[in-house]
Amino acid sequence: MGRHRRPGADRRSHVGGARGDARRRDHLGRRPRRRARRPHSPAVSGATADALERVADGVLRVPLRTQTLPPFTHTNAFVLASDGVGVVVDPGAGDATAVAALRAALDAADVTAPKGVLLTHTHPDHVGGVDALRSLWPDLQVWAPAAELGRCDSAWGAIGVRHGRRLTLGGAVLTLVGTPGHALDHVAVWWSAHRVLLAGDLVAGAGSIWVGVPDGDVSAYLASLERAAALDPVIVAPAHGPVRRDGATVLHEARRHRLAREASLLEALQDGPARIGALRARLYPDLPEAAFDLAERTLLAHLAKLMRELRVMHVGSDADGPYALA
Ligand SMILES: [Zn+2]
Repeated sequence: MGRHRRPGADRRSHVGGARGDARRRDHLGRRPRRRARRPHSPAVSGATADALERVADGVLRVPLRTQTLPPFTHTNAFVLASDGVGVVVDPGAGDATAVAALRAALDAADVTAPKGVLLTHTHPDHVGGVDALRSLWPDLQVWAPAAELGRCDSAWGAIGVRHGRRLTLGGAVLTLVGTPGHALDHVAVWWSAHRVLLAGDLVAGAGSIWVGVPDGDVSAYLASLERAAALDPVIVAPAHGPVRRDGATVLHEARRHRLAREASLLEALQDGPARIGALRARLYPDLPEAAFDLAERTLLAHLAKLMRELRVMHVGSDADGPYALA
């Protein structure tokens, strides 16, 4: 179920993904045991509380409204908790509604004060709530991918993390998985006991993740998908779109989408050298002008990979090309 269901969405997915049917699952409101609300917990509206999703034991998804790439409107933050010790992953917003939702999730996970915040990467739609959480809990530790530390507010005192780093939560051990490609640096979170991969922007729950210059790297991205697939996750919980319980499929779909884009780019170049604007018009004929830049940056990332592989060459005097088959 859920495989190969993107025929109409594929055209637009290159600029950040396609909206999928948000299949709703185990919501917290249906849990039989509900702890009494702590005095400090703000009132949470029914709509916000319903949005919390229990992904696995100790894994809560908290969709927060953010300024993100269309068609998405939210970033999924996650609360991970074990034995009353918890962390927040990718708090993308820090407005009152977002903070209330995160506090409700922490409360539901029996976490009085989170141990820290883990950022899969530092795009604004993933870090927007860090300041708000630090003002609530000044001792909060912030972890961010090592190569993106320079993009963190120095006031956060963020600690750089890399592939293989382990974080303990009570008796649970989480492993960080280096997954660059979408951003300059990126880590996913692997909770092996649950076979859950918090994927950040490695994949989207529906459609595809944007990979474009200057930070995007298609070779690294494909390698990251392979690295994630080797873990054989059952659940892939992305930062955008629904949680996927067909982990291998969503990783495979992302790889197939990238390779299909590369194949169509090579096919277009078979007609002769072309500038980036012409390639964009050919590969994305129905695109609104507002999305031209994102699409062209995607193609430039693909072209960079193909040039490294000596399959394409740049025969122009500027970055716009022309590009030709080597
Ligand atoms: Zn991102």
